[in-house]
Order: sequence, then C-alpha cells, then structure tokens
Amino acid sequence: MSRAGLAALVDAIGACRLCAERPDGPPLPHEPRPVVRVSATAKLLIAGQAPGLRVHRSGLPFDDPSGDRLRAWMGVDRATFYDVARIGVAAMSFCFPGYDAQGSDLPPRRECARQWHDALFAALPQAETILAVGKYAQTYHLRRLGCAIPAGASVAATVGRWREFWDLEPRVIPLPHPSWRNSAWLKRNPWFEAEALPALRAEVARLVLT
Ligand code: SF4
Repeated sequence: MSRAGLAALVDAIGACRLCAERPDGPPLPHEPRPVVRVSATAKLLIAGQAPGLRVHRSGLPFDDPSGDRLRAWMGVDRATFYDVARIGVAAMSFCFPGYDAQGSDLPPRRECARQWHDALFAALPQAETILAVGKYAQTYHLRRLGCAIPAGASVAATVGRWREFWDLEPRVIPLPHPSWRNSAWLKRNPWFEAEALPALRAEVARLVLT
C-alpha cells in the first residue's frame, strides 16, 4: 500500500464510529476516540489491548505508569517511544471499551479486529517486530502468522514461549501487560527480566536506535 493509501486508512480509522452506530452488541458507552499511531517507516510495532480512560482522554497511548515501565523494559525514552517514524502503536481495540460492572476495563471491541486489523497490519509490511502486549494481541498476531496458541493459554505460558516466536516474520515478542499490578508476576518469573528483557532491549535497539 502506498503512503497515501496508509494515510487514508489511518484517517478512516480515526473517523470510525462503528461501535457507536452499528455495534455487534452493546454500543460504546462514550463517543469513539480511536487511538492509533502508525507510519510507513516504523520497524517496531507495539500491539496492546485497548486504551484506558486516561488514553481515551489524552489520545496518547501508554502515557501512564504502565507506559513508563514498558519504556524501561524497551530501554527507550519518551521522545523515542513517541517518534511514530520509528515506533508504531496499534492496540486490539483502538477505542477505550469502557468498564464492566466491577469497574475493570472491558475486553477489546471485536468490531475493531473485524473492520480494521487485517487491512492495517497488511499495510505495514516494513514492521519487522511486533511487541504483543497481553493475551488479546498475542492471540491475534500469532494466529495470523500461523502460530495459533491454545485457547485458554495464559499470558504467562505464552510469554514463556517467547523464543519460539523469534523467527516469525514479522517477529513477535509476547509481553505481559506492564501494569504495576503485574509486579507479583514479575517476581514469580525472574527469567523474564533475566532472559527475555535483554533480548527485547537488543531487538529494540537494533530497530529503533541504530
Ligand atoms: S473500537 Fe475500533 S471499530 Fe469500534 S469505533 Fe473504535 S475504531 Fe471503530
């Protein structure tokens, strides 16, 4: 796809109102605000779950303590992280899905995958590596690359297999969500910081800092 074609696709996503006007189930409980940052040059793509309320308001993904931890994992500063010419961000739901009855974030909107994802990721052939953050991104990207993970596989199990996905094209690096709520998981799985993070940092440096 040409750069103009990608720009038109991103504009169309930015104007999307599918989950308000023709939703699969209950409509979005707020006005859609798609958040997606991609370019024709970024070799690294971060695929997360969905914006939270803070990102819904600011329009800037990972502009929170989780983002700080993700940047620390990657070994990049904010200026680099938000340089869309080098790093793209495209979550499994471009809009904040809202909260469930318990006050937790709802899962990503399924309409987004159906309407946009295949076309968007096909339009980013230069993306050499995808950081798949959380279960939904891991399930989608590994499946489309012919490496489906078992239904019900935990994030820990998928992240633990990170070496198996290294040679996919594009490369997929599965990550847990960098939320501080996952600190206990990190303590229980010291191999993640000892083995996976150095490999992640080297890959980010290769793609972004050279
Ligand atoms: S979540 Fe995706 S499909 Fe739904 S309104 Fe936002 S951009 Fe459109």
